[in-house]
Amino acid sequence: MERRSFIFGAGGALAAAAGVLAQPAEKATSPSLGDLRDKLATCTRIFAMQGLIGLFGHVSVFDPQSRRVLMTPGMGVDKATLRGPDILVMDLSGKVLEGQTRPPVEWPIHTALHAARADALAVAHLHSPQATLFGIAKREFTPVTVQGCLLMDGVPLYTEAGLVTTPERGQRLAATVGKKPAAFMRGHGIVVVAKDLERVLYGALVLEDETAKAAQAATLGEVGTISAAECRAFSSESEWDQRVRRAWNYYAALESRWNRQPGTGRVPFA
Ligand SMILES: [Zn+2]
Repeated sequence: MERRSFIFGAGGALAAAAGVLAQPAEKATSPSLGDLRDKLATCTRIFAMQGLIGLFGHVSVFDPQSRRVLMTPGMGVDKATLRGPDILVMDLSGKVLEGQTRPPVEWPIHTALHAARADALAVAHLHSPQATLFGIAKREFTPVTVQGCLLMDGVPLYTEAGLVTTPERGQRLAATVGKKPAAFMRGHGIVVVAKDLERVLYGALVLEDETAKAAQAATLGEVGTISAAECRAFSSESEWDQRVRRAWNYYAALESRWNRQPGTGRVPFA
């Protein structure tokens, strides 16, 4: 069987999963930049709906044919109302080619990861509230639910406390991420990397949920974890491509009727 990661490309822990994983989930042809703009905007609005992006955070997708990076706007722009035309077009050097809004100051996160890995076609940098705690607490990530098996290879920590505003810092972050699907950024946030936006959404949702459950369980007592063997067994029985697709469709449907207001009117700072 061809070894292929169901979510995040070669080297992923679930590369050994069932034969279904050897089947491409999507057409081999690249979508047009217009389609990608719309999809990136949808992904970002879902992150906003879920409280994973707000004042801070940005998402990008790379089109290998045109070598263009599509990027969400920088700090302060309302991500909950983002639409395709709001998306910036950049090259891998960070030069803005199209777009009326300003790019995020941490654009090197995206360009460095897109350049470093052929399977890093989608990148999210989020200050997601629960996952960010793991970049503050000195705690290793280990799956605590079977969904967390997605991240069974671990989530490394980028130890530099500061914004990733230069290509050199971006390259050091990319080196920390390595072939992994995600990293914590100390005192800052997270980065999630995947071969498409559906998988970036799924990975970020899983990481947020796993870290929230681990933190909550720790208040009750010792935290039980899912072993590597249990993760492999779970993965071999799971049709992960289908899970990713269904999650995307589910959240996209919820987002389409979202009233675009936070539940309480109170919006966390980061
Ligand atoms: Zn940040």
